[in-house]
Amino acid sequence: MIVSKFGGTSVADAAAITRVIDVIVSKQASQPVVVVSALGGATNVLLDLAHKAAGGELLVALQLVEQLRDRHLREVHALLDGSKEAEELALDISASFDELAHLAEAFRTLGYLTPRSLDTVAALGELLSSQIVAAAFRHRGFPAVWVDARDVMKTNDSFTRAEPDVDRIALAAQEVLLPLLKQGKIPVMGGFVGSAPGRVTTTLGRGGSDYSASLIGAAIEATAIEIWTDVDGMLTADPRVIPAAQLIERISFDEAAELAAFGAKVLHPATIAPAVQRGIPVFVFNSRKPDGKGTMIAFDAPRLPVRAIAGKRSTTLVKLRSSRMLLAPGFLRRVFEVFETHRTSVDVVTTSEVSVSVTLDDATNLGAILQDLAAFGDVAVERRSGIVAIVGAGIADGSRAIADALIALGPIPVYMASLSATGINFTLVIDDEQVVPAMQRLHAAFFEQPS
Ligand code: ADP
Ligand code: ASP
Ligand code: MG
Repeated sequence: MIVSKFGGTSVADAAAITRVIDVIVSKQASQPVVVVSALGGATNVLLDLAHKAAGGELLVALQLVEQLRDRHLREVHALLDGSKEAEELALDISASFDELAHLAEAFRTLGYLTPRSLDTVAALGELLSSQIVAAAFRHRGFPAVWVDARDVMKTNDSFTRAEPDVDRIALAAQEVLLPLLKQGKIPVMGGFVGSAPGRVTTTLGRGGSDYSASLIGAAIEATAIEIWTDVDGMLTADPRVIPAAQLIERISFDEAAELAAFGAKVLHPATIAPAVQRGIPVFVFNSRKPDGKGTMIAFDAPRLPVRAIAGKRSTTLVKLRSSRMLLAPGFLRRVFEVFETHRTSVDVVTTSEVSVSVTLDDATNLGAILQDLAAFGDVAVERRSGIVAIVGAGIADGSRAIADALIALGPIPVYMASLSATGINFTLVIDDEQVVPAMQRLHAAFFEQPS
């Protein structure tokens, strides 16, 4: 059994969905479970229209509903050309968009959105795309069965970033997915979407379809988890920033997890953990080039000082100075409790005897955090920060990687630096607008030297 996940661009239209079918059909002997994202860009439009409606722009919101309706119906017709199933599916899809239009009207009346209502809206993208893909398989004569992700992906009720309930997912996967696989069927389900107790719709957070795939992979003890996307695999940097980025054929779980956490959007940061726990290799492939080598993520990979570079813009740097830190056991615990209380995770941390500095990805609760931190000492905030990270299992193996990185940055000011004790990640906090130049300099230094 394997899990194959296809991202938004890989299911963007009928031509892309046809490529998905070809890939999966060639793997039928491996008993694939297919996980799909919403049609490329659909999640952004859904969230945008909900915000527009709540902000009073109902007409614009309703126009967006109609654009999405047209797009989904167009792809249904292109894939299923005039079959009976096309008509039924088109009616169902249209009914979903009618409901969405009513929801938009309700948001307009209320004038606000709740995280729960946002999840109901966002989930529609994957719920529809997965039904379309399943129908397209059947139309081509393959025994696909649509699985409602809410019947498998059990979560808590932290709407917009729900946490999976791994035990309940394992049970549900055994009850729902395994019997289908045993009968030779191809289960097709949406990623990203889940359900809280009471079967209330939740989502795992943006980009969460990768996480869905690895959770399902762990639940059915798959032999491989495949992430099919729009690039050749994991590369030495984001190719949109560094066109010269090179394919990484093999990378360790630890390195891949670090890269994902520090900005390599190709994998959702939580994807690796379920795979590691079960020792399931994760592959990243390009759905436009199904014969490409792709990247294999597994326990072991050739040990290199620098495997890849990642960068992240728009992070927030919080600096706390306190004379009370001196010789005070438990001080750091109390400081970090503040971030826990406000459900905000911390990316980079450095400490000295009298100060703690941290970076945050998500500044939604910054106001409340700063208020609580003020009780410990003087707090300063730098909102326009960025991060660059060089990642490699052998980064501290007596190599010159750290020195070379600092030399490569040249005049770019560095405000904070952190090297993990396990020597896998050297992270630097810099100005937000320096992230791209810093990545270019680092990539040139480590990967573009003439040999
Ligand atoms: P999907 O819709 O398939 O989930 P995403 O847009 O979420 O695709 O992720 C793929 C994108 O990740 C690529 O187009 C690329 O720009 C970006 N990316 C960032 N860092 C890397 C990296 N190190 N290797 C490959 N892609 C990366
Ligand atoms: N469609 C969702 C998003 O755009 C989840 C995903 O694509 O992974 O965030
Ligand atoms: Mg993604």
